[in-house]
Amino acid sequence: MMHYQVEDVPYVKLAGELGVGCSDISKAKILFCQEEAEKILPKSRKVVELADAVEEVESCSACYGYLIPALEMLKEEGLFEKLHEKICIGQGYRGQNGELGVGHCTCKFRHHVEGCPPLEKDIYEFLKEYILGKEE
Ligand code: SF4
Repeated sequence: MMHYQVEDVPYVKLAGELGVGCSDISKAKILFCQEEAEKILPKSRKVVELADAVEEVESCSACYGYLIPALEMLKEEGLFEKLHEKICIGQGYRGQNGELGVGHCTCKFRHHVEGCPPLEKDIYEFLKEYILGKEE
């Protein structure tokens, strides 16, 4: 759904080679907890554009996976372009200070959304409020 190839995620390829997992996506049985979750993420070019706004250091895939659709929603509303700060995400930010962060790992930042991981809707609402607050 995120348009990654197996080669893009080395530990998945390694797990397949070691026999501790399967890296053949055609064999995956994908279940969605809610209908809304089934939407396909934007094409990779768009993901790259959205990812440019993110400073990621050792982020969990769940955290990052919720952030990108939240950014896409902001883009659809014309708000993404108004965000000028980089969004920090990942375990590499634990204990560090900064401006704008996503997830509990960035709890010491001036602005952050709580959660481990925070959900897509919470990230979207937090960033929207942050962007609109900067406009005032
Ligand atoms: S907040 Fe939680 S889910 Fe997000 S990067 Fe940190 S440890 Fe991972």
